[in-house]
Amino acid sequence: MSVRDGLARVRERIVAACARAGRDPADVTLVAVSKRHPVERVREAWEAGQRVFGENYVQELASKADAAADLEGVEWRFIGHLQRNKAKLLARPGVVVETVDSERLAAELDKRARAAGLVMPVLVQVNVGGEAQKSGCEPAELDAILAAIRGAAHLDVRGLMTIPPATDDPDDARPHFAALRRLAEDRGLKELSMGMSADLEAAVAEGATIVRVGTAIFGARP
Ligand SMILES: *Cc1c(COP(=O)(O)O)cnc(C)c1O
Repeated sequence: MSVRDGLARVRERIVAACARAGRDPADVTLVAVSKRHPVERVREAWEAGQRVFGENYVQELASKADAAADLEGVEWRFIGHLQRNKAKLLARPGVVVETVDSERLAAELDKRARAAGLVMPVLVQVNVGGEAQKSGCEPAELDAILAAIRGAAHLDVRGLMTIPPATDDPDDARPHFAALRRLAEDRGLKELSMGMSADLEAAVAEGATIVRVGTAIFGARP
């Protein structure tokens, strides 16, 4: 299956899920997760109209962003675990960090964004599933992190992101998606990044405004 066909199918799934939920597909941003795929796949997706791409590794994002710098209107979303000593590489125009999970990381990103003369859009990653090994802050830590971001002149918080516990049944993710939505609603946050190839319908049903889809667009990762 070509990237163009994969994208078309995923867009159809989003439209159908929105129709079932009585939502406008224009309110759901598709992040094409290109991690571990060569930049040529990013070009193919761009030619098929895709503009927003997701990456898990800082160095990979930076080198792909350089290699695709000629593609107009591209936005990069960092969706992996971010170490503070790598934050500097992400402080560049067109990058959104979806995985802020501590006050210290927020402070570091603010410092790097200021040095680069940017205001960086960010989301806070929340571990709503309560898994011990997962990244993301605990729900109890969220307000302190949001306060730190809101006090930072060079960060702009847009919403929350989560990765639910892995499962075979996408419906198992729904309570976690619903929990993220309630955390965002209670705090006046608009964007909800949740849902991947296997469970984007469940995420859209629970209010996702951003879905992060890799395999269903690009095929299995090499
Ligand atoms: C890899 C990844 C995705 C995409 O997963 P697929 O199952 O390939 O759609 C989405 N979100 C995060 C955080 C990821 O690491």
